[in-house]
Amino acid sequence: KKRNPHQPEFVQAVQEVAEDIFDFMADKEEYHSQQILRRIAEPDRVVSFRVCWEDDAGNIRVQRGWRVQNNNAIGPYKGGIRFHPSVTESVLKFLAFEQTFKNALTGLPMGGGKGGSNFNPKGKSVREIMRFCQSFMTELYRHIGADVDVPAGDIGVGGREIGYMFGQYKRITNEFTGVLTGKGLEWGGSLIRTEATGYGAVYFLANMLATRGMDLVGKTAVISGSGNVATHAAEKIVQLGGKVLTLSDSGGFIHDPDGITQDKIEWVKTHKTHRRGRIEEYVEAFPKATFHAGKTPWGVPCDVALPCATQNELLGEDARTLVANGCIAVSEGANMPTDLDGVHTFKHARLLYAPGKASNAGGVAVSGLEMSQNSARRSWHEDELQQMLKDIMAGIHARCEEYGRQGDYIDYVKGANIAGFKKVADAMLAFGVV
Ligand code: NDP
Repeated sequence: KKRNPHQPEFVQAVQEVAEDIFDFMADKEEYHSQQILRRIAEPDRVVSFRVCWEDDAGNIRVQRGWRVQNNNAIGPYKGGIRFHPSVTESVLKFLAFEQTFKNALTGLPMGGGKGGSNFNPKGKSVREIMRFCQSFMTELYRHIGADVDVPAGDIGVGGREIGYMFGQYKRITNEFTGVLTGKGLEWGGSLIRTEATGYGAVYFLANMLATRGMDLVGKTAVISGSGNVATHAAEKIVQLGGKVLTLSDSGGFIHDPDGITQDKIEWVKTHKTHRRGRIEEYVEAFPKATFHAGKTPWGVPCDVALPCATQNELLGEDARTLVANGCIAVSEGANMPTDLDGVHTFKHARLLYAPGKASNAGGVAVSGLEMSQNSARRSWHEDELQQMLKDIMAGIHARCEEYGRQGDYIDYVKGANIAGFKKVADAMLAFGVV
């Protein structure tokens, strides 16, 4: 807190990891003497830059961009780019810190980073978004590279934005390399990358339920968000026999007691992604549903919950409501959606609770597979990739269990923190004091 007085999200993320790591490090002198935790919690570098662009009315607009390169002990920096007005250095530092552990958990050789801008894509024309992306990359290009730092999408950055940024990188450097992931299939992208985070979060959920002899058939699910992660999580829940009751956006949530079926999910995808509409319009298309303005969906009774929108969207009080309503499992699709009070509540209630750094790692894992395909200049088939994603999520589950099992209870937060930390820390020890 003293080192980062105005960075609450970053302090929160480090605090959550430190709680688990202190116990684990107690008898490991080398981690202490080499100040490993302190070194991981200080990014290798934070680059901050001006992004200047011209809007459709000819006004010159000035935004701030960042790239946080947190740690490259086990591979090139890797992590998404976020365009949202809530982006600050603190938010990106927390995301880059979490990403370091998440990437280590996947078993693939990727370090941790994150970037973005406080640019708000909402209400902007396609040409404005293109000009912004080009300007952003005009500075970013000098800090990244296929073996240096490989950004991807995140909130507000989807396939279209990756395309504009990749086009600008290629124009400036005259190189066609796998410098970004989440690319279009025609120009180096990987199958199932778009679906991977949401699908992965549900595979992880299925792994957790299996430890108690259960599956998703007939289970009711409450999901927040209605973007990439939320809609694909919903899709996989439906495929595995569950019933999705809610979706949301920053305006509120919709509750559909009949269940949000595949055709309704398709409607949401088209409406939110392609038309940039609001979730409240769902009730006009499907009148049995209700819209709850300004609210999150955690009060709707359910068997499983998947927060898939943003950080700190599920607070202690919401966690207590979920527990009181008989929720069995929570799998985080978003990054740090549950605040510390909520995390403690889930742990205390011995809920099956997966932190995002474990359960939402499917996206970055398939990004890692996209990097491998780019390096080998080949593309794997969909069924191969689906199987790899399933295996990777099962592997992450096993690593969490290895370090988080306490009798008949698995503390997934502890398991993920220790397994991720150990891999990065051991690599750092091997490099000496650098
Ligand atoms: P999208 O931009 O596709 O969707 C984000 C969704 O969350 C939208 O429904 C948005 O609503 C809602 N949302 C965003 N900010 C807020 C806020 N401050 N309050 C309430 N709702 C909000 O992003 P993704 O689905 O890609 O990302 C969602 C989460 O998953 C993020 O935490 C991201 O870091 C994480 N994640 C994403 C990965 C990926 O592969 N895409 C990988 C791993 C993690 P609205 O339309 O109103 O803004």
